[in-house]
Amino acid sequence: MSVVAVFNRKGGVGKTTTAVSVASALALAGQRTLLVDLDPQGSAGRSLAIDVEDGRGTSALFAAKGKPAVTYPAHPALFRLGVVAADLALADVEAELLADGRRRARLATGLERLREREHWGVTVIDLPPALGGLSDAALRAAEGVLVPVAADFLALDALRSTLAAVRAVEKSRGGSYVPLAVLPTFVDRRRATADAVALLQDQFGDLVLARGIPRSARFDAAALSGVPVALGAPRSAPAIAYAEAATALAAALDRAPKKAKATRRPAVKKFVRADMRDSLREIRLSTAEGGAS
Ligand code: ADP
Ligand code: MG
Repeated sequence: MSVVAVFNRKGGVGKTTTAVSVASALALAGQRTLLVDLDPQGSAGRSLAIDVEDGRGTSALFAAKGKPAVTYPAHPALFRLGVVAADLALADVEAELLADGRRRARLATGLERLREREHWGVTVIDLPPALGGLSDAALRAAEGVLVPVAADFLALDALRSTLAAVRAVEKSRGGSYVPLAVLPTFVDRRRATADAVALLQDQFGDLVLARGIPRSARFDAAALSGVPVALGAPRSAPAIAYAEAATALAAALDRAPKKAKATRRPAVKKFVRADMRDSLREIRLSTAEGGAS
C-alpha cells in the first residue's frame, strides 16, 4: 500500500482540500483509495458529510485492538473512496503520542491491518497544521509527502520550516520520501501570486508540481455540500488541476522503488516533467462526460 501524508506546518494552505480532492480524484480514476483524517478538527470527514462514532474513527488506528470504521461517501460515484474520519478521542491520542513517542509506530501497523482487511491501493492522510505526535506518526508511516503551499510570501516563508521538519523525520526513520512534492494552491492572476510561484520554482525546483491549484470559491461550496469539486463540477479548472496532481502522484508512487534512498531526485524530476502528458490525456478522458466549467 502507498501512504501519502498531506502536510504543512501552516494552517489554511489547502491541506484538507488537497487531501479530499486528491483522494476523490484517485478513487474516480479507479484506485481503491483510503482517506484518513488525522486532524482532530475533523474537517476532511465533515467536508464529505461523514460522521463517526467515538472510538471508531482514526483514534482506533492507534489502539492495539482498535476497529476503525471505514465509511463511504453518500455519492455512488465515490464507491472506491473509503474514509476513516476523525473522532473525539483523536485529541487524546495526540496527547498520548506526545507523552510516549514509541506509540507513534502503531499508526503504520493500524494502516497495514486495514489494508490486509480491505485491500486499499493508496492511503491519503490529512494532517493538522503542526508537527506534533499525529503528524510525526503519519510522516513515519508514509512513503510520499505532499505539501500544499498557498502562493503567497508568508506561506513560502513557512515552507522552509515545513520541509526542514519533513527532512528531519526522513533522516531519523531512514529511507527517502518518494515523491516529496510541493503543490502551489490559491493560484490566481495577481502579480504577487505569479511571483510567489516563480520563487517557489526557483527555490525548490523539481519538488514543485508544475501547475498548481487555482483559487476558487468552488472549494468552500463543495465542503458545504459534502460533494467534492471533482463530482460537483468535473470540468472546472480546480477539478482538472487536482485530477492532474492526483495522476502525477499516482504515477510517482507506482514508480517509487521500495527502498528509494538513492533515486529520489531523478524520480521526482521525471514525475513532474514526463508524466504531465499522460495525466493530461487521462484527465481529458475522465472529464469528457460533462459538468460546469
Ligand atoms: P488547511 O487544511 O491547510 O487548514 P483547508 O483545505 O481547510 O486548509 O482550506 C482553508 C480554506 O480555504 C477552506 O475554507 C477551503 O475551502 C478554502 N480553500 C482551500 N483551497 C482553496 C483554493 N484553491 N481556492 C479557494 N479556497 C480554497
Ligand atoms: Mg485542514
